[in-house]
Amino acid sequence: MESPVVVVGSGPIGAVVARRIAEAGRAVTVLESGPAISDPPGSHVRNQARFTREPDSYFAGIASDFRYFDDAAAPPGLPGACVTAAVGGQGVLWTNNCPRPTAPERGGLLSDAEWDRYLDDAECYLGVADDTFAGSVRQQRILDRLGPTLATAGREIRAQPMAGHLVDIPGRSAPARRLVDPATIHYVATSDILAGTGVRIDFGDVQRVIVEQGRVRAVRLAGGTTMETSAVVVAAGAFDTPILLHCSGIRPPALGRYLTYHPVLYSQLVLDPSLCGDPGDLPPRLWIPPAPGAPWNTMVLRDTNPVPPAPPDVDVPAERLVEMQTFCPVDNHPDNTMTITDDGSVRFDVPLREADQARMAAAVADQQELSTALGRFRAGLEPQWMTLGFAHVMGTCRMGSRDDGTCVTDEFGQVWGAENLYLATVGVIPNALAVNPTLTGAALAIRSADRLLAG
Ligand SMILES: Cc1cc2nc3c(=O)[nH]c(=O)nc-3n(C[C@H](O)[C@H](O)[C@H](O)COP(=O)(O)OP(=O)(O)OC[C@H]3O[C@@H](n4cnc5c(N)ncnc54)[C@H](O)[C@@H]3O)c2cc1C
Repeated sequence: MESPVVVVGSGPIGAVVARRIAEAGRAVTVLESGPAISDPPGSHVRNQARFTREPDSYFAGIASDFRYFDDAAAPPGLPGACVTAAVGGQGVLWTNNCPRPTAPERGGLLSDAEWDRYLDDAECYLGVADDTFAGSVRQQRILDRLGPTLATAGREIRAQPMAGHLVDIPGRSAPARRLVDPATIHYVATSDILAGTGVRIDFGDVQRVIVEQGRVRAVRLAGGTTMETSAVVVAAGAFDTPILLHCSGIRPPALGRYLTYHPVLYSQLVLDPSLCGDPGDLPPRLWIPPAPGAPWNTMVLRDTNPVPPAPPDVDVPAERLVEMQTFCPVDNHPDNTMTITDDGSVRFDVPLREADQARMAAAVADQQELSTALGRFRAGLEPQWMTLGFAHVMGTCRMGSRDDGTCVTDEFGQVWGAENLYLATVGVIPNALAVNPTLTGAALAIRSADRLLAG
């Protein structure tokens, strides 16, 4: 009998790969080094009632689920860079926003038809919908207020696609349910992606991928046991994937170079009363995609606020509040590095260059302008940059079309020189994407799984 395909890591991207392989009838084992931190294992932590009742307590509630590489580092050392070792990875903590990459962000590795096909598949596996909050009065009024102005600048605003859905509470009609509990959302995570597939997640801390004569033969686990495998997909996140390659003696020149991420500009607004619905209004979730004159990604939503407000704005009615989050991509540069040492420890060097800083300054001005159309900033929550490196690190093991030292895998995620070793992570995204990257990473990962199955 053929050995199973091993998927290393049980985050959302490992889960979509495992599901694709299982759907093709091949045996697949997911190995995960972290414990279950939610019940059922791999479900979203935020589905717990305490976070539904008190959404603003969410970040404090999950603070201990992050392991930082060096939270005392100076900004170029990425003080926010962190991982979550857990069944479901950081996908049990994420905010589930799943925009598609815009046309200029797609790069040339896939045709438009292929992008669309694999993004469709990824949206299906992740349960993405963009009409969940269509009933929100605030959402419609903000669309009406900002849409025409943005259009004159070649920009747009639309509903933010999200991996989740409103929860049905038996016996209550939808309008009544919303009045009682306006924001009861089911957030999708690994347990949803794998439901009904028969895929099991086994505990296993993979220490090394054993490659002999250009093929992976087995993986070695902590404790010294080895597991034979027909192929390996490393889906261990944007940091642990390159670390595992390095520890396996696979060290192509591009490993850990070209790192890009999203400095996140965050603010909260007190909306003009004319934009608000009643206290039972659904929260809005809107998306202003990157555009040529504004190459950052902005969300206008009422989600969760980790920053304490200041007087006189400590108590503001919930239906008057929205947050703005802007992701400002950092240019890919060969010297934006994650250096891995022989013991697996890591040092970052990702200075913000002139073009990055100019883009960040323009994003601040943009948030200020948008806010004047909507209301005013809540005291204490004026635009502020979140700790650099926390969000969306990409490019650490990028894909490319030629083995020329600028990429780690081919365009299908197969590591150069190892024919049955694939990577599935946002770390393979080769360019500086502005949109939240998980959907894009999942689409590329499903395509890699198809290649593995074909080959
Ligand atoms: C608060 C927060 C909000 C976010 N919101 C969004 C959002 O709205 N939209 C978006 O697109 N993205 C968002 N993200 C990012 C998103 O969570 C990640 O892009 C996504 O989880 C990546 O999935 P992954 O499967 O590649 O890796 P991960 O989710 O990081 O999972 C990797 C798994 O691999 C395991 N692993 C690592 N090494 C090994 C090993 N050697 N052996 C076995 N297992 C191993 C880890 O324990 C981990 O469980 C958010 C992240 C956070 C923290």
